[in-house]
Amino acid sequence: MSKQEIKNIDKIIKLLKKEAKNFVNPIVTEIGEETRSPFMVLISCLLSLRTQDKTTGPVAKKLFDVAKTPEEIAKMPLKRLQKIIRPVNYYITKSKRIKEISKTIIAKYDGKVPHTFEELMTLKGVGKKTAAITMVYGHKKAHYIPVDVHVHVIANRLGWIKTKNAEQTMDELMKVVPKRYWYDLNDLFVAHGQNICLTNSPFCSKCAIREYCHRIGVIRSR
Ligand code: SF4
Repeated sequence: MSKQEIKNIDKIIKLLKKEAKNFVNPIVTEIGEETRSPFMVLISCLLSLRTQDKTTGPVAKKLFDVAKTPEEIAKMPLKRLQKIIRPVNYYITKSKRIKEISKTIIAKYDGKVPHTFEELMTLKGVGKKTAAITMVYGHKKAHYIPVDVHVHVIANRLGWIKTKNAEQTMDELMKVVPKRYWYDLNDLFVAHGQNICLTNSPFCSKCAIREYCHRIGVIRSR
């Protein structure tokens, strides 16, 4: 699909922005807005992997109440970190990664979160999604489109792209979505995906962008 074929993108984004006013912001963007800290965005994104926002939010806040810099997390005993983040999925692996990443940031980057996507990707446990989220919502550089399951599913259902996984989706979306929407797209699609376009059975009957959606691959809807 070429760029000009997403002909209703302006209308879609406008409708999603209006709709999003009814929903709570996704946790990672909320933390980015509140703290302006790339490190806290990076850590909250790692905590959120395969974990719902309603669990991630309180855990991230609890952690940041006691440690919110690479130095503070590096110094924290692993057992204590594990106890704090226990409600998130894969907390044992995540606690080790978070400590390791904090130490690497101190040793290699003078305590500052790296400023490039490529450097972020060298941190153990940081994939494309986390690197893109940190660039966009942490460093406020909209040079990427962060893609999680909601962005992947919705972009395919709309018929904008045809991809098999989130990694491909990021590359394809960056070819077809105009740059002016790169900052907002993740935020809007995550909110829409968490509340309306649910992965297993979307609420198409109350969807604000229904008339612009091809509903590709939707078998069951409400
Ligand atoms: S119409 Fe249905 S499938 Fe399409 S975006 Fe809306 S909820 Fe999702």
